[in-house]
Amino acid sequence: MSKANQRDFYEVLGVTKTSSAEEIKSAYRKAAMKWHPDRNPENKEEAEIRFRECTEAYTVLSDTQKRQIYDTYGHAGLAGVGGQTDFNGVNFQDFHDIFGDFFGFEDLFGSGGRRRGGKRVQRGADLRYDMTLTFEEAAAGIATKVRVPRQEYCESCNGTGAKKGTGITTCQACGGRGQIVYQQGFFTINRTCPACQGAGQIVKERCPDCRGQGRVDRERNIELRIPPGVDTGTRLRVQGEGEPGPNGGPAGDLYVVLEVKEHSFFERRGADLYCTIPLSISQATLGAELQVPGLNGEERLKVPEGTQSGAVFRIKAKGLPDPHGGGRGDLYYHVRVLTPTKLTREQRKIMEQLDATLKVDNKPADRNSSLFDKVKDIFG
Ligand SMILES: [Zn+2]
Ligand SMILES: [Zn+2]
Repeated sequence: MSKANQRDFYEVLGVTKTSSAEEIKSAYRKAAMKWHPDRNPENKEEAEIRFRECTEAYTVLSDTQKRQIYDTYGHAGLAGVGGQTDFNGVNFQDFHDIFGDFFGFEDLFGSGGRRRGGKRVQRGADLRYDMTLTFEEAAAGIATKVRVPRQEYCESCNGTGAKKGTGITTCQACGGRGQIVYQQGFFTINRTCPACQGAGQIVKERCPDCRGQGRVDRERNIELRIPPGVDTGTRLRVQGEGEPGPNGGPAGDLYVVLEVKEHSFFERRGADLYCTIPLSISQATLGAELQVPGLNGEERLKVPEGTQSGAVFRIKAKGLPDPHGGGRGDLYYHVRVLTPTKLTREQRKIMEQLDATLKVDNKPADRNSSLFDKVKDIFG
């Protein structure tokens, strides 16, 4: 920003030369809230300029000495005292007093991160494990073991990465903070220190078992109890079985993502099951008692006299269980009357006799007629 057209600091904050420190602080708070780049995503460039401008004005006007110089000599007077664009001189504790945690100033200006013993503590990564179940396994639920590859602490070096008997020194690049602060325009950005990968420490001699990583790849047997009724896409969370967190942070979680194979004849809709049962024309006409497959063994399906093709029969609570402990779904049998395509000479003769006496009015059927059967509940 050139000095010639630099705006008056009082004007920038909308205050006057007689305004009190409290008024200036309050004016700055209002202006900064308005122009914070995070709150102006569609107008970021202008917001950044405005935000910088009001911060600059506040930096000067909130400092009694700088304000006096500015009042006497204007912008030119501040050139020697580092009051204008030197944002490294901004007191961020002051920002914190003004805004609290409102903007996440800690992230913006880089003073933060959860730490333990001077190191950055993070939660470990979550792991995903894909598992395929047969339809029957998913319906009944199973207890099983899975082998999950993951990283674990190296026991030879207790996770430090240093060879036994050798020392550990503080990382020179970051001074042990594990992070390096970069200036990017107005903003200060924290990055994980590349020299120590955020550990804040450098090992003199690497542990041979983990090559200095402090962690080793292991396969772990994890016992899983899969509840009955799970479906494709069901996610089971196994707490604390993910990867360990860096620097002793809590472990992530393991997510077991299930895929359930389709059944050869049961179609699943939520917890309900559907299947199609063929009927002969005589069974449909005279009625029949059938043994049909159920989820747990055979079921008795009583088809009444005069059953139409397409009729659906329901057996309540014989479907899949709800994995969350609710009730069971229902079991539906959809019957389809098979028209014979090959008749013996004798069958054909009977059929012709039947045809002579059996008359149907071949007009379009009323859409609400009972010809199209609604679901019928059957018991036993
Ligand atoms: Zn470092
Ligand atoms: Zn090791």
